[in-house]
Amino acid sequence: MKITVFGIGYVGLVQGTCLAEAGHEVVCVDVDASRVENLKKGIIPIYEPGLEPMVKANHESGRLSFTTDAAAAVAHGDIQFIAVGTPPDEDGSADLKYVLAVARTIAENMNRHTIVVNKSTVPVGTADKVTAAISDVLAKRSDAKLTFDVVSNPEFLKEGAAVNDCMRPDRIVIGTESADSIEAMRELYEPFNRNHEKIIQMDVRSAELTKYAANCMLATKISFMNEIANLAERLGADIEAVRHGIGSDPRIGYQFIYPGVGYGGSCFPKDVQALIRTADGIDFDAKVLKAVEARNYEQKTTLFSKINAHYNGDLKGKTFAVWGLSFKPNTDDMREAPSRVLMEALWAAGAKVQAYDPEAMEETQRIYGNEEGLTLCGTKEAALKGADALAIVTEWQPFRVPDFDAIKQQLADPVIFDGRNLFEPKRMQKKGIQYYSVGRNPV
Ligand code: NAD
Repeated sequence: MKITVFGIGYVGLVQGTCLAEAGHEVVCVDVDASRVENLKKGIIPIYEPGLEPMVKANHESGRLSFTTDAAAAVAHGDIQFIAVGTPPDEDGSADLKYVLAVARTIAENMNRHTIVVNKSTVPVGTADKVTAAISDVLAKRSDAKLTFDVVSNPEFLKEGAAVNDCMRPDRIVIGTESADSIEAMRELYEPFNRNHEKIIQMDVRSAELTKYAANCMLATKISFMNEIANLAERLGADIEAVRHGIGSDPRIGYQFIYPGVGYGGSCFPKDVQALIRTADGIDFDAKVLKAVEARNYEQKTTLFSKINAHYNGDLKGKTFAVWGLSFKPNTDDMREAPSRVLMEALWAAGAKVQAYDPEAMEETQRIYGNEEGLTLCGTKEAALKGADALAIVTEWQPFRVPDFDAIKQQLADPVIFDGRNLFEPKRMQKKGIQYYSVGRNPV
Protein backbone atom coordinates (compact mmCIF):
# COMPACT_ATOMS: atom_id res chain seq x y z
CA MET A 1 0.00 0.00 0.00
CA LYS A 2 1.08 3.62 -0.46
CA ILE A 3 1.55 5.35 2.88
CA THR A 4 2.50 8.87 3.93
CA VAL A 5 3.77 9.61 7.43
CA PHE A 6 3.87 13.20 8.72
CA GLY A 7 6.52 13.68 11.42
CA ILE A 8 9.84 11.81 11.45
CA GLY A 9 10.32 11.62 15.22
CA TYR A 10 10.42 8.53 17.42
CA VAL A 11 6.97 7.43 16.36
CA GLY A 12 6.91 8.49 12.70
CA LEU A 13 10.37 7.14 11.87
CA VAL A 14 9.85 3.80 13.60
CA GLN A 15 6.32 3.35 12.26
CA GLY A 16 7.27 4.38 8.71
CA THR A 17 10.30 2.08 8.74
CA CYS A 18 8.38 -0.91 10.05
CA LEU A 19 5.62 -0.42 7.46
CA ALA A 20 8.29 -0.29 4.73
CA GLU A 21 9.95 -3.40 6.19
CA ALA A 22 6.60 -5.17 5.81
CA GLY A 23 6.53 -4.23 2.12
CA HIS A 24 4.50 -1.00 1.99
CA GLU A 25 5.72 2.03 0.02
CA VAL A 26 6.28 4.74 2.62
CA VAL A 27 7.04 8.44 2.24
CA CYS A 28 8.00 10.21 5.47
CA VAL A 29 7.69 13.97 5.55
CA ASP A 30 9.00 16.48 8.09
CA VAL A 31 9.37 20.26 8.32
CA ASP A 32 12.87 19.79 9.73
CA ALA A 33 15.01 19.98 6.57
CA SER A 34 18.27 18.98 8.26
CA ARG A 35 16.64 15.86 9.71
CA VAL A 36 15.40 14.90 6.24
CA GLU A 37 18.79 15.57 4.61
CA ASN A 38 20.59 13.53 7.27
CA LEU A 39 18.20 10.62 6.88
CA LYS A 40 18.80 10.61 3.13
CA LYS A 41 22.51 10.20 3.96
CA GLY A 42 21.78 7.41 6.42
CA ILE A 43 22.22 9.54 9.55
CA ILE A 44 19.53 8.53 12.05
CA PRO A 45 18.34 11.31 14.39
CA ILE A 46 17.56 9.09 17.39
CA TYR A 47 19.06 6.07 19.09
CA GLU A 48 16.73 3.08 19.02
CA PRO A 49 17.99 -0.51 19.04
CA GLY A 50 17.75 -2.15 15.60
CA LEU A 51 16.45 0.95 13.84
CA GLU A 52 19.50 2.11 11.89
CA PRO A 53 20.06 -0.97 9.69
CA MET A 54 16.34 -1.22 9.02
CA VAL A 55 16.10 2.43 7.92
CA LYS A 56 19.15 2.06 5.66
CA ALA A 57 17.98 -1.20 4.05
CA ASN A 58 14.48 0.07 3.32
CA HIS A 59 15.74 3.44 2.09
CA GLU A 60 18.13 1.69 -0.28
CA SER A 61 15.38 -0.62 -1.52
CA GLY A 62 13.29 2.45 -2.41
CA ARG A 63 10.36 1.49 -0.16
CA LEU A 64 11.17 4.22 2.38
CA SER A 65 11.87 7.81 1.40
CA PHE A 66 12.22 11.12 3.23
CA THR A 67 11.12 14.54 2.06
CA THR A 68 10.13 18.04 3.10
CA ASP A 69 7.83 18.29 0.08
CA ALA A 70 4.43 17.96 1.77
CA ALA A 71 2.43 18.31 -1.47
CA ALA A 72 4.27 15.42 -3.15
CA ALA A 73 4.02 13.37 0.04
CA VAL A 74 0.25 13.83 0.24
CA ALA A 75 -0.09 12.93 -3.44
CA HIS A 76 1.69 9.62 -2.69
CA GLY A 77 -0.38 8.14 0.12
CA ASP A 78 -3.79 6.48 0.20
CA ILE A 79 -3.37 6.53 3.95
CA GLN A 80 -1.90 9.61 5.63
CA PHE A 81 -0.49 9.20 9.13
CA ILE A 82 -0.20 12.17 11.47
CA ALA A 83 2.70 11.41 13.85
CA VAL A 84 3.80 14.89 14.89
CA GLY A 85 4.40 16.08 18.44
CA THR A 86 1.62 17.07 20.83
CA PRO A 87 3.65 18.93 23.47
CA PRO A 88 2.05 20.39 26.58
CA ASP A 89 0.50 23.80 26.19
CA GLU A 90 1.18 26.44 28.86
CA ASP A 91 -1.55 24.95 31.08
CA GLY A 92 -0.46 21.33 30.48
CA SER A 93 -3.17 20.45 27.95
CA ALA A 94 -2.03 18.87 24.67
CA ASP A 95 -1.11 21.49 22.08
CA LEU A 96 -2.72 20.46 18.80
CA LYS A 97 -1.17 23.12 16.57
CA TYR A 98 1.14 20.67 14.75
CA VAL A 99 -1.61 18.07 14.30
CA LEU A 100 -4.05 20.63 12.89
CA ALA A 101 -1.36 22.16 10.65
CA VAL A 102 -0.78 18.73 9.12
CA ALA A 103 -4.55 18.21 8.73
CA ARG A 104 -4.75 21.46 6.74
CA THR A 105 -1.72 20.49 4.62
CA ILE A 106 -3.35 17.16 3.77
CA ALA A 107 -6.60 18.94 2.86
CA GLU A 108 -4.78 21.44 0.64
CA ASN A 109 -3.08 18.70 -1.36
CA MET A 110 -5.29 15.61 -1.35
CA ASN A 111 -6.63 14.57 -4.74
CA ARG A 112 -8.66 11.41 -3.99
CA HIS A 113 -10.46 9.69 -1.12
CA THR A 114 -8.03 9.81 1.78
CA ILE A 115 -7.82 8.05 5.11
CA VAL A 116 -6.23 10.34 7.69
CA VAL A 117 -4.86 8.43 10.65
CA ASN A 118 -4.11 10.14 13.96
CA LYS A 119 -1.13 8.34 15.47
CA SER A 120 -0.09 11.22 17.70
CA THR A 121 -1.40 11.03 21.25
CA VAL A 122 -4.34 13.41 21.17
CA PRO A 123 -7.18 14.30 23.54
CA VAL A 124 -10.68 12.93 23.06
CA GLY A 125 -12.43 15.01 20.43
CA THR A 126 -9.33 15.65 18.30
CA ALA A 127 -10.60 13.55 15.38
CA ASP A 128 -13.59 15.91 15.25
CA LYS A 129 -11.23 18.90 15.16
CA VAL A 130 -9.12 17.29 12.41
CA THR A 131 -12.31 16.55 10.45
CA ALA A 132 -13.44 20.18 10.81
CA ALA A 133 -10.00 21.52 9.77
CA ILE A 134 -9.96 19.35 6.63
CA SER A 135 -13.57 20.18 5.75
CA ASP A 136 -12.86 23.92 6.08
CA VAL A 137 -9.96 23.77 3.65
CA LEU A 138 -11.82 21.56 1.19
CA ALA A 139 -14.76 23.99 1.23
CA LYS A 140 -12.37 26.83 0.34
CA ARG A 141 -10.85 24.68 -2.42
CA SER A 142 -14.43 24.17 -3.66
CA ASP A 143 -13.55 20.51 -3.49
CA ALA A 144 -16.15 19.54 -0.95
CA LYS A 145 -16.86 16.46 -3.07
CA LEU A 146 -13.46 14.98 -2.10
CA THR A 147 -14.14 12.46 0.65
CA PHE A 148 -12.03 11.47 3.63
CA ASP A 149 -12.25 9.64 6.94
CA VAL A 150 -10.35 10.42 10.13
CA VAL A 151 -9.25 7.32 12.04
CA SER A 152 -7.66 7.12 15.48
CA ASN A 153 -4.79 4.63 15.70
CA PRO A 154 -2.80 5.46 18.85
CA GLU A 155 0.79 4.26 19.18
CA PHE A 156 1.90 2.09 22.10
CA LEU A 157 5.60 1.66 21.30
CA LYS A 158 8.11 1.93 24.13
CA GLU A 159 11.25 3.95 23.52
CA GLY A 160 14.20 1.59 23.81
CA ALA A 161 12.16 -1.29 22.35
CA ALA A 162 10.29 0.66 19.67
CA VAL A 163 11.21 -1.46 16.64
CA ASN A 164 10.22 -4.69 18.34
CA ASP A 165 6.98 -3.13 19.63
CA CYS A 166 6.10 -1.97 16.12
CA MET A 167 7.01 -5.22 14.38
CA ARG A 168 5.31 -7.36 17.06
CA PRO A 169 2.61 -5.20 18.63
CA ASP A 170 0.60 -6.44 21.63
CA ARG A 171 -2.47 -4.77 20.19
CA ILE A 172 -3.48 -2.50 17.33
CA VAL A 173 -6.21 -0.12 18.43
CA ILE A 174 -8.25 1.31 15.57
CA GLY A 175 -10.95 3.86 16.19
CA THR A 176 -13.35 4.20 13.28
CA GLU A 177 -16.90 3.30 12.43
CA SER A 178 -16.30 3.29 8.70
CA ALA A 179 -16.33 -0.19 7.13
CA ASP A 180 -14.04 0.96 4.30
CA SER A 181 -11.49 2.47 6.68
CA ILE A 182 -11.33 -0.57 8.93
CA GLU A 183 -10.86 -2.76 5.86
CA ALA A 184 -7.99 -0.53 4.65
CA MET A 185 -6.39 -0.51 8.11
CA ARG A 186 -6.69 -4.30 8.31
CA GLU A 187 -4.91 -4.63 4.98
CA LEU A 188 -2.21 -2.20 6.15
CA TYR A 189 -1.55 -4.12 9.36
CA GLU A 190 -2.03 -7.61 7.91
CA PRO A 191 1.74 -8.42 8.12
CA PHE A 192 1.70 -7.52 11.84
CA ASN A 193 -1.49 -9.40 12.63
CA ARG A 194 -0.65 -12.95 11.63
CA ASN A 195 0.10 -14.75 14.88
CA HIS A 196 -3.27 -13.96 16.45
CA GLU A 197 -5.89 -11.24 16.19
CA LYS A 198 -4.40 -8.04 17.58
CA ILE A 199 -6.75 -5.49 16.06
CA ILE A 200 -9.17 -3.99 18.54
CA GLN A 201 -11.74 -1.88 16.74
CA MET A 202 -13.75 0.74 18.58
CA ASP A 203 -15.27 4.17 18.13
CA VAL A 204 -12.90 7.08 17.62
CA ARG A 205 -13.35 8.73 21.03
CA SER A 206 -12.75 5.47 22.88
CA ALA A 207 -9.56 4.89 20.89
CA GLU A 208 -8.34 8.39 21.77
CA LEU A 209 -9.05 7.79 25.45
CA THR A 210 -7.49 4.30 25.38
CA LYS A 211 -4.04 5.76 24.76
CA TYR A 212 -4.27 8.18 27.70
CA ALA A 213 -5.77 5.52 29.93
CA ALA A 214 -2.88 3.15 29.15
CA ASN A 215 -0.15 5.68 29.91
CA CYS A 216 -1.93 7.00 32.99
CA MET A 217 -2.40 3.46 34.33
CA LEU A 218 1.33 2.76 33.94
CA ALA A 219 2.23 6.10 35.55
CA THR A 220 -0.17 5.26 38.38
CA LYS A 221 1.59 1.94 39.03
CA ILE A 222 4.93 3.75 39.26
CA SER A 223 3.68 6.50 41.55
CA PHE A 224 1.83 4.00 43.73
CA MET A 225 4.98 1.94 44.15
CA ASN A 226 7.02 5.03 44.94
CA GLU A 227 4.48 5.98 47.57
CA ILE A 228 4.81 2.54 49.18
CA ALA A 229 8.62 2.85 48.92
CA ASN A 230 8.46 6.07 50.92
CA LEU A 231 6.34 4.33 53.52
CA ALA A 232 8.72 1.33 53.61
CA GLU A 233 11.69 3.60 54.26
CA ARG A 234 9.93 5.29 57.14
CA LEU A 235 8.53 2.06 58.60
CA GLY A 236 11.75 0.03 58.44
CA ALA A 237 10.47 -2.32 55.71
CA ASP A 238 12.25 -3.36 52.49
CA ILE A 239 10.39 -2.30 49.33
CA GLU A 240 12.11 -5.00 47.27
CA ALA A 241 10.67 -7.70 49.51
CA VAL A 242 7.29 -5.97 49.30
CA ARG A 243 7.59 -5.79 45.50
CA HIS A 244 8.15 -9.53 45.26
CA GLY A 245 5.38 -10.11 47.76
CA ILE A 246 2.76 -8.24 45.76
CA GLY A 247 4.05 -9.00 42.25
CA SER A 248 3.46 -12.71 42.84
CA ASP A 249 -0.27 -11.99 42.87
CA PRO A 250 -1.28 -12.42 39.21
CA ARG A 251 -3.87 -9.68 39.61
CA ILE A 252 -0.98 -7.30 40.30
CA GLY A 253 1.95 -8.80 38.35
CA TYR A 254 5.64 -7.90 38.42
CA GLN A 255 5.63 -5.38 35.59
CA PHE A 256 5.93 -1.66 36.24
CA ILE A 257 6.11 -1.92 40.01
CA TYR A 258 9.76 -0.98 40.41
CA PRO A 259 10.37 1.81 42.91
CA GLY A 260 12.74 4.51 41.70
CA VAL A 261 13.28 8.18 41.06
CA GLY A 262 10.04 8.85 39.21
CA TYR A 263 8.90 8.54 35.62
CA GLY A 264 10.14 10.84 32.87
CA GLY A 265 10.25 10.82 29.09
CA SER A 266 8.16 12.46 26.44
CA CYS A 267 4.93 10.63 27.23
CA PHE A 268 3.94 9.84 30.83
CA PRO A 269 4.44 13.33 32.32
CA LYS A 270 2.70 15.10 29.47
CA ASP A 271 -0.09 12.55 29.04
CA VAL A 272 -0.99 12.49 32.75
CA GLN A 273 -1.04 16.27 32.71
CA ALA A 274 -3.10 16.42 29.52
CA LEU A 275 -5.76 14.04 30.87
CA ILE A 276 -5.99 16.12 34.06
CA ARG A 277 -6.59 19.20 31.89
CA THR A 278 -9.16 17.34 29.79
CA ALA A 279 -10.98 16.46 33.02
CA ASP A 280 -10.72 20.05 34.27
CA GLY A 281 -12.24 21.19 30.98
CA ILE A 282 -15.41 19.24 31.70
CA ASP A 283 -15.44 20.20 35.42
CA PHE A 284 -14.36 16.77 36.59
CA ASP A 285 -11.77 16.59 39.35
CA ALA A 286 -9.33 13.82 38.34
CA LYS A 287 -8.19 13.13 41.91
CA VAL A 288 -6.18 9.96 41.23
CA LEU A 289 -4.28 11.48 38.31
CA LYS A 290 -3.44 14.61 40.29
CA ALA A 291 -2.00 12.46 43.08
CA VAL A 292 0.01 10.42 40.55
CA GLU A 293 1.53 13.61 39.18
CA ALA A 294 2.27 15.10 42.61
CA ARG A 295 3.96 11.92 43.87
CA ASN A 296 6.12 11.78 40.74
CA TYR A 297 7.16 15.40 41.05
CA GLU A 298 8.34 14.78 44.60
CA GLN A 299 9.96 11.45 43.80
CA LYS A 300 12.30 13.07 41.31
CA THR A 301 13.87 14.99 44.21
CA THR A 302 14.42 11.93 46.42
CA LEU A 303 18.02 11.25 45.35
CA PHE A 304 19.03 14.86 45.94
CA SER A 305 17.36 14.84 49.38
CA LYS A 306 19.35 11.75 50.38
CA ILE A 307 22.60 13.26 49.13
CA ASN A 308 21.88 16.56 50.85
CA ALA A 309 21.03 14.86 54.14
CA HIS A 310 24.16 12.66 53.98
CA TYR A 311 26.36 15.76 53.66
CA ASN A 312 24.33 17.78 56.20
CA GLY A 313 23.30 20.29 53.55
CA ASP A 314 26.89 21.21 52.69
CA LEU A 315 27.38 20.29 49.03
CA LYS A 316 29.45 23.31 47.99
CA GLY A 317 32.61 22.18 46.19
CA LYS A 318 31.63 18.49 46.23
CA THR A 319 31.79 16.46 43.02
CA PHE A 320 29.32 13.71 42.14
CA ALA A 321 29.71 10.99 39.57
CA VAL A 322 26.31 10.55 37.91
CA TRP A 323 25.66 7.31 36.00
CA GLY A 324 22.65 7.34 33.69
CA LEU A 325 21.21 10.47 32.11
CA SER A 326 18.51 9.23 29.72
CA PHE A 327 15.06 8.90 31.27
CA LYS A 328 15.29 5.11 30.96
CA PRO A 329 17.78 2.60 29.53
CA ASN A 330 18.22 1.94 25.79
CA THR A 331 17.32 5.43 24.66
CA ASP A 332 19.11 8.76 24.36
CA ASP A 333 15.93 10.66 25.23
CA MET A 334 16.36 13.04 28.16
CA ARG A 335 12.97 14.72 28.06
CA GLU A 336 11.73 15.10 31.68
CA ALA A 337 14.54 12.77 32.82
CA PRO A 338 15.03 12.47 36.60
CA SER A 339 18.80 12.96 36.01
CA ARG A 340 18.06 16.55 35.04
CA VAL A 341 16.27 17.28 38.31
CA LEU A 342 19.20 15.77 40.26
CA MET A 343 21.95 17.55 38.32
CA GLU A 344 20.19 20.91 38.42
CA ALA A 345 19.67 20.60 42.19
CA LEU A 346 23.34 19.66 42.69
CA TRP A 347 24.50 22.65 40.65
CA ALA A 348 22.14 24.96 42.55
CA ALA A 349 23.73 23.70 45.80
CA GLY A 350 27.23 24.48 44.50
CA ALA A 351 28.26 20.92 43.64
CA LYS A 352 29.84 19.62 40.42
CA VAL A 353 28.79 16.67 38.28
CA GLN A 354 30.89 14.17 36.30
CA ALA A 355 28.33 12.48 34.10
CA TYR A 356 28.25 9.34 31.99
CA ASP A 357 25.53 7.66 29.94
CA PRO A 358 25.97 4.91 27.30
CA GLU A 359 23.87 6.79 24.71
CA ALA A 360 22.77 10.23 25.93
CA MET A 361 26.11 12.10 25.97
CA GLU A 362 25.37 14.11 22.81
CA GLU A 363 21.93 15.00 24.11
CA THR A 364 23.43 16.08 27.46
CA GLN A 365 25.96 18.22 25.61
CA ARG A 366 23.13 19.77 23.59
CA ILE A 367 21.09 20.60 26.70
CA TYR A 368 23.81 21.47 29.25
CA GLY A 369 26.87 22.17 27.08
CA ASN A 370 27.41 25.55 28.74
CA GLU A 371 26.98 24.37 32.31
CA GLU A 372 30.19 25.05 34.26
CA GLY A 373 29.51 22.43 36.88
CA LEU A 374 29.28 19.61 34.32
CA THR A 375 32.06 17.37 33.03
CA LEU A 376 31.02 14.83 30.39
CA CYS A 377 32.94 11.57 30.75
CA GLY A 378 33.62 8.95 28.08
CA THR A 379 33.24 5.96 30.42
CA LYS A 380 31.55 5.18 33.70
CA GLU A 381 34.98 4.67 35.27
CA ALA A 382 36.17 8.11 34.12
CA ALA A 383 33.16 9.68 35.82
CA LEU A 384 34.35 8.27 39.17
CA LYS A 385 37.83 9.83 39.06
CA GLY A 386 38.19 12.40 41.82
CA ALA A 387 34.47 12.33 42.65
CA ASP A 388 33.22 12.38 46.24
CA ALA A 389 30.34 9.97 45.69
CA LEU A 390 28.38 8.12 43.01
CA ALA A 391 24.71 8.61 42.11
CA ILE A 392 22.97 6.10 39.81
CA VAL A 393 19.91 7.47 38.08
CA THR A 394 19.18 5.15 35.12
CA GLU A 395 19.32 1.35 35.28
CA TRP A 396 21.48 0.71 32.20
CA GLN A 397 22.73 -2.89 31.99
CA PRO A 398 26.47 -1.99 32.26
CA PHE A 399 25.82 -0.40 35.68
CA ARG A 400 24.47 -3.60 37.23
CA VAL A 401 27.77 -5.36 37.88
CA PRO A 402 30.39 -2.65 38.36
CA ASP A 403 33.87 -3.08 39.79
CA PHE A 404 33.14 -2.17 43.40
CA ASP A 405 36.84 -2.13 44.34
CA ALA A 406 37.48 0.49 41.66
CA ILE A 407 34.49 2.49 42.91
CA LYS A 408 35.89 2.40 46.44
CA GLN A 409 39.33 3.40 45.26
CA GLN A 410 38.19 6.30 43.10
CA LEU A 411 35.63 7.93 45.36
CA ALA A 412 36.73 10.27 48.14
CA ASP A 413 33.84 8.96 50.20
CA PRO A 414 32.81 5.37 49.33
CA VAL A 415 29.10 6.05 49.10
CA ILE A 416 26.55 5.19 46.42
CA PHE A 417 23.17 6.87 46.07
CA ASP A 418 21.21 4.40 43.95
CA GLY A 419 17.93 5.58 42.47
CA ARG A 420 17.16 2.16 40.92
CA ASN A 421 17.92 -0.40 43.68
CA LEU A 422 20.51 -2.20 41.56
CA PHE A 423 22.43 -3.75 44.46
CA GLU A 424 21.86 -5.77 47.63
CA PRO A 425 22.27 -3.50 50.67
CA LYS A 426 23.92 -6.25 52.76
CA ARG A 427 26.46 -6.95 50.01
CA MET A 428 27.29 -3.25 49.85
CA GLN A 429 27.78 -3.24 53.61
CA LYS A 430 30.20 -6.18 53.36
CA LYS A 431 32.14 -4.35 50.65
CA GLY A 432 32.49 -1.35 52.92
CA ILE A 433 30.40 0.92 50.73
CA GLN A 434 27.81 3.17 52.27
CA TYR A 435 24.65 2.57 50.28
CA TYR A 436 21.46 4.56 49.92
CA SER A 437 18.65 3.15 47.79
CA VAL A 438 14.90 3.70 47.41
CA GLY A 439 12.43 2.25 49.88
CA ARG A 440 15.10 0.48 51.93
CA ASN A 441 17.00 1.66 54.96
CA PRO A 442 20.53 2.93 54.21
CA VAL A 443 23.46 0.69 55.21
P1 NAD B 1 9.02 13.92 18.10
O1 NAD B 1 9.09 15.26 18.72
O2 NAD B 1 10.17 12.96 18.27
O3 NAD B 1 8.79 14.08 16.52
C1 NAD B 1 7.81 14.90 15.95
C2 NAD B 1 8.27 15.30 14.56
O4 NAD B 1 7.21 15.96 13.90
C3 NAD B 1 9.47 16.25 14.53
O5 NAD B 1 10.52 15.72 13.74
C4 NAD B 1 8.89 17.52 13.93
O6 NAD B 1 9.82 18.27 13.16
C5 NAD B 1 7.77 16.97 13.07
N1 NAD B 1 6.76 17.95 12.65
C6 NAD B 1 6.20 18.97 13.35
N2 NAD B 1 5.32 19.63 12.59
C7 NAD B 1 5.29 19.02 11.38
C8 NAD B 1 4.58 19.25 10.17
N3 NAD B 1 3.68 20.23 10.05
N4 NAD B 1 4.82 18.43 9.13
C9 NAD B 1 5.71 17.43 9.22
N5 NAD B 1 6.42 17.17 10.34
C10 NAD B 1 6.22 17.95 11.40
O7 NAD B 1 7.68 13.25 18.62
P2 NAD B 1 7.40 11.71 18.95
O8 NAD B 1 8.08 11.31 20.21
O9 NAD B 1 7.58 10.92 17.71
O10 NAD B 1 5.83 11.79 19.29
C11 NAD B 1 4.86 12.02 18.29
C12 NAD B 1 3.50 11.75 18.89
O11 NAD B 1 3.39 10.36 19.25
C13 NAD B 1 3.20 12.53 20.16
O12 NAD B 1 1.84 12.82 20.22
C14 NAD B 1 3.55 11.52 21.26
O13 NAD B 1 2.84 11.77 22.45
C15 NAD B 1 3.10 10.22 20.63
N6 NAD B 1 3.79 9.03 21.13
C16 NAD B 1 5.12 9.07 21.42
C17 NAD B 1 5.76 7.92 21.87
C18 NAD B 1 7.22 7.94 22.21
O14 NAD B 1 7.68 7.00 22.89
N7 NAD B 1 7.99 8.94 21.82
C19 NAD B 1 5.03 6.74 22.04
C20 NAD B 1 3.67 6.73 21.69
C21 NAD B 1 3.07 7.89 21.25
